[in-house]
Amino acid sequence: MTLEIVKYGDPVLRQKGKPVPEITDEVRALAENMIETMREANGVGLAAQQIGLPVQLTVLDVEPTEERPSSMTVDGKPADIAEWMPMVLLNPVIELGAEKAEATEGCLSFPEITAEIERAVSVKAKGRLLDGREIEFEATGLLARALQHETDHLNGILFIDRMKSATRTVLAGRLKRLQRETRG
Ligand SMILES: [Zn+2]
Repeated sequence: MTLEIVKYGDPVLRQKGKPVPEITDEVRALAENMIETMREANGVGLAAQQIGLPVQLTVLDVEPTEERPSSMTVDGKPADIAEWMPMVLLNPVIELGAEKAEATEGCLSFPEITAEIERAVSVKAKGRLLDGREIEFEATGLLARALQHETDHLNGILFIDRMKSATRTVLAGRLKRLQRETRG
């Protein structure tokens, strides 16, 4: 079942997610519906806030391309990203690598708005998978960027907060309009 994606202007996007204490049938159904919703919208990630629930659950579906490569290392060994996608992460925590790079980013809660955002090139992530296993891994490239974008959502932080102020100024009119439309 696809869910309605919450747009910028809805206060739930600014709420920090509550930890998910246990993996119930309800959590599994939510994750499944979020994956379906993300795929239908051609997104690489979706956080629970974006379907109106402030909890620490995000889904990711990164398909690295030549243009936007990614790598993933699990337990010190290179992993095949395709085998891990789509990924459901509960209560994720990330640690940012020192090197930074700019790349174009969008967000399903901000239709048709993209901007260059500076992010860490690599991250160390840990969290819980839907089957209950704890996972610790390293990611680079598009996967690292998606993890930063989604864990930001889980903490009520949006990609507009990471934009350079000049970019935000350029987009100010469109952001205001979107906010108004959302609030009706
Ligand atoms: Zn987003």
